[in-house]
Parts: sequence; structure tokens; C-alpha cells
Amino acid sequence: MSTLPTIGHLIGGQLTQGGSRSTEVFNPATGKAEKKLLLADKLTVEQAIANAQAAFPEWRNTPPLKRARVMSKLKVLLEEHADALCALVTAEHGKVLPDAMGELQRGIENVEYASYAPELLKGEHSKNVGPAIDSWSEFQALGVTAGITPFNFPIMVPLWMWPMAVACGNTFVLKPSERDPSSTMLVAQLALEAGLPPGVLNVVNGDKEAVDTLLTDPRVKAISFVGSTPIAEYIYATGCAHGKRVQALGGAKNHAVVMPDADVPNAVNALMGAAYGSCGERCMAIPLVVAVGDATADAVIAGLKVEIAKMKVGPGTTAGMDMGPLVTKAHFEKVKGYVDQGVAEGATLVVDGRGVQVPGHEQGYFLGPCLFDNVKPGMVTYQEEIFGPVLGVVRVETLQEAMDLIDAHEYGNGTCIFTRDGEAARYFTDNILVGMVGVNVPLPVPVAYHSFGGWKRSLFGDLHAYGPDAARFYTKRKTITQRWPSAGVREGTMFSFPSSK
Ligand code: NAD
Repeated sequence: MSTLPTIGHLIGGQLTQGGSRSTEVFNPATGKAEKKLLLADKLTVEQAIANAQAAFPEWRNTPPLKRARVMSKLKVLLEEHADALCALVTAEHGKVLPDAMGELQRGIENVEYASYAPELLKGEHSKNVGPAIDSWSEFQALGVTAGITPFNFPIMVPLWMWPMAVACGNTFVLKPSERDPSSTMLVAQLALEAGLPPGVLNVVNGDKEAVDTLLTDPRVKAISFVGSTPIAEYIYATGCAHGKRVQALGGAKNHAVVMPDADVPNAVNALMGAAYGSCGERCMAIPLVVAVGDATADAVIAGLKVEIAKMKVGPGTTAGMDMGPLVTKAHFEKVKGYVDQGVAEGATLVVDGRGVQVPGHEQGYFLGPCLFDNVKPGMVTYQEEIFGPVLGVVRVETLQEAMDLIDAHEYGNGTCIFTRDGEAARYFTDNILVGMVGVNVPLPVPVAYHSFGGWKRSLFGDLHAYGPDAARFYTKRKTITQRWPSAGVREGTMFSFPSSK
């Protein structure tokens, strides 16, 4: 019998149990199971959907400003509980505490933006579109909406979704990652404390059974997904086949181009954080450097070697650490396998992090930073998303060659160019087939009042996540045309199609 604390679900404003299956949540720094997580069955998810459905009519008719005030209150509560929230993230995800703080802050900014929903919900009005006829468009809530989120940002990515959805008058069922659900649950409880009525936000923990119920239940009108590309593609196809509006954000393999004129020390510093921050478990991480010219590649590698030697790897709770463990043992084995494969494929392993030891944490999932030179497009380590602390350098001769590589890659989430040449930067940003582009900015993650999304197989759907696109994703446009004929005026019959001619 497991004596671990049990995490259930949050349905109708109550913490509940549900589902006969369970899994364990581990601390990746120790390798120990710390919590038992109940996996919702179909019935439990249906209860969550029913609660969301019941809460919808009243919430939809709540004045937008009152809904927005809940977001303003939630922002304050998130700030007040920052330490507790980040401790939960680090205990289950492994990222170092300052990185968890960064994630929380980005999440809070999305809550802040959602509190502007009344402004975004303002419609469009045209007077006298015909004789005494006025017309306007308004943006109405969809009903029950749902979100399915990945492990790597357990606070931020859910906050990309449900705050704007509920601020627009929808109700929501969230299915977080089963690897690190505790911080997500605490945020949902804080939302209740902020005044969100029971049933407006429900959280079901679970796996494929829970997700499939959300994808097929006709009461769910829209699904937002963030996770790996194979699952994103499945979510998009299945959700669309069941008549839902779907946005499904997938994986990535982001390239950073370093031009011969770049400020190499600054580029190296930027690349260090982008490649190894959060152990490379970010969809906007930089796992590939495309160096233009051998001299550039040699200088970048020399700089990276110096900086990597200074890196501190250890538990995310210990002050001064740069990088914590990978999220699970299975993921650790997978990433280590990619490093083995890179060696077998003929890339040059310049820094090998496979043997790293963290005293007192021998069972933790620690992998040191790894650096490859001579990575080539045909290699698996070039093509596939590794999602670990593995950076590869690809050598090319020209900017065009670098851009052709990026454009040919299946993913198009993020990219950046390091250069001092404005013309090259402008050509790059104008033409590259990638959704989010940085110039001397390694992680060009849009701020909360822009929207986030990749191109190609990094996003299935039309509208991007959060920002202005989210207000459109979570509402449908209705256009009303109105005329009030004067009393006593008889109007003739008209058989031709009405027009302004
Ligand atoms: P994942 O695809 O394994 O899981 C994401 C969600 O899908 C989880 O809630 C999980 O329970 C659910 N899921 C997993 N398998 C499923 C199945 N067979 N059927 C239905 N649901 C299933 O992703 P992850 O490992 O949690 O997260 C890492 C991935 O997320 C990486 O590929 C990363 O690039 C991507 N990601 C993308 C973005 C983005 O904005 N594009 C942001 C963060 C993470």
C-alpha cells in the first residue's frame, strides 16, 4: 500500500478523487517517488465537463469587468505564493529555482493580459449600413473549453490558456502533465480564492483516457494543446474530426545562426542559457548552432568550452546551480541515448556530460552539458528534438546555406541570428520559415500581449497561443444587423438581394 500523499482533481470547486488507476510523481533530483497521482477515468472527466457546462450560463453573463477583476486578484495571489509555487515546480520538474521564478513571472504576465479581456471583447459597430440600418459584430464565448499541457512549464503554459478563456466568458477543463501536477493544482486553488466561481475552472489529472474523453465529448467546444508533435497532430486530427476548434502546439528544433561579424563572446553567453537553461527542456531552447564559416565555428566552440567548464549542475533547490536534473528517468535515458547516437553517427563530442556525478544525489537524473561539433543534417541528432542539455554545431559557408537548412527542417518554432549586419538580419527575419525569430535574442518568446506560435510541424491550427490571438480563439464572432422602421411606415416587398446600390 502506498503511503504517498495523493493528488486527485479539482471539479466544481472541490478537491475530489476519481479513477481507479494512478501513477507516481518523482523528485528528479533524488529519483524518489514523492506523490501518488490519480488518473481520471472517462466518468471523472465527464463530471468535470458537466460542472463546466453548468457554470457556463451564469459566467457568460457576468459582466466582463467582474470576470477581469478575478484575474487581477489572481495576479496578486500568485505573487504572494511565488515561493511555494516555485518550490513545487523545482521539486517535480527539477529546474533551478530562479528559472521557476522566471516561468512564474511569464505566467503572471498572461494573467495580467487576461485582465484586459473587456477591451479585447469590444465589438465593431457600423451605423447606416443601409437606410436606417445599423450593423455590429460581437465576440461571444464558446462554452466549455479545454486545455492539455506539457511537463516543461507546469505553471506558465496552463496560464497561456485558461485565464483568457475564462476572462472571455468560457468555462474550462484543464488536463495538466502527469509528471509535475502540483504547482498547476495550487494555481487552480488560488483562482478559486481569487473569486472564480466553482465549475468555471476544473482540473482533471490523467493520461490518454482523460485526453480522449475531452477530445470526443460534444460539450467541449475548443481544445488548446501544447506538447510534442506526434501528440499535437493526434489532438488536432481527433479534435477537428469531432467538430471542435483546435490549436495544437508541438515540438521544436531551433537553430541559432552565428554570422562571421557577430559579437562572439555575447553570442556564446546567450547560447549557453538558451541551450542549457532548464536542462534544454524548453520548446524555445537552442539545440543547434549554425556557424557561418570555420573561423566562426572555431571561435564559438572555444568560447562554449570555457563557459561550460564553469557550469554548476545540481539540485534546483541549491543556490548557485545553473542546471538541474532531467524530468524523469525515462527521459534521462532517452537523452543519453541521443548522445550515444551522435557519437555513433560521426559527430565530434567536444564536451561529454554523460558521466556527471552530483554527490548525495546519485539516483537523480543528472546529465551534464554536452557539446557536439560537425553535426550534419542527415543525422538523427540533427533532425529530432532531443529536449536535453545537448548542443550541436553545424558548419556552413554562407547565410543562405544556413537559411536553407532551417527552412528544410520539419519544425519551425523559433530561430535567431547573431550579427551586427542590419541587412543580413532584415533578410533573415523577412524570409525565414519560422514563427518566432530573434535578432541577437536567443529565446524570442513573445511577451504576453503578442501571441506565441511556431510554423510548419510546430503548430497545428490557425491561431497562436495567448495574446490577441487567444481572445479570438476563445470567442466566436456574431454579426447583428438591425433596423427599426418608423411606426406607421409600410415597407414594400423586395425580391432582389439586398445591396447598397
Ligand atoms: P507530451 O506530448 O508527451 O505530453 C503533453 C500532454 O499530452 C500531457 O498532458 C500528456 O499527458 C498528454 N499525452 C501524452 N501522450 C498522449 C497520448 N498518447 N494521447 C493523448 N494525450 C497524451 O509532451 P511533454 O513531454 O509533456 O512535453 C514536452 C514537449 O512539449 C516537447 O516536444 C516540447 O517541444 C513541447 N512543447 C511545445 C511548446 C510550444 O509552445 N510549441 C511549449 C512547451 C513544450
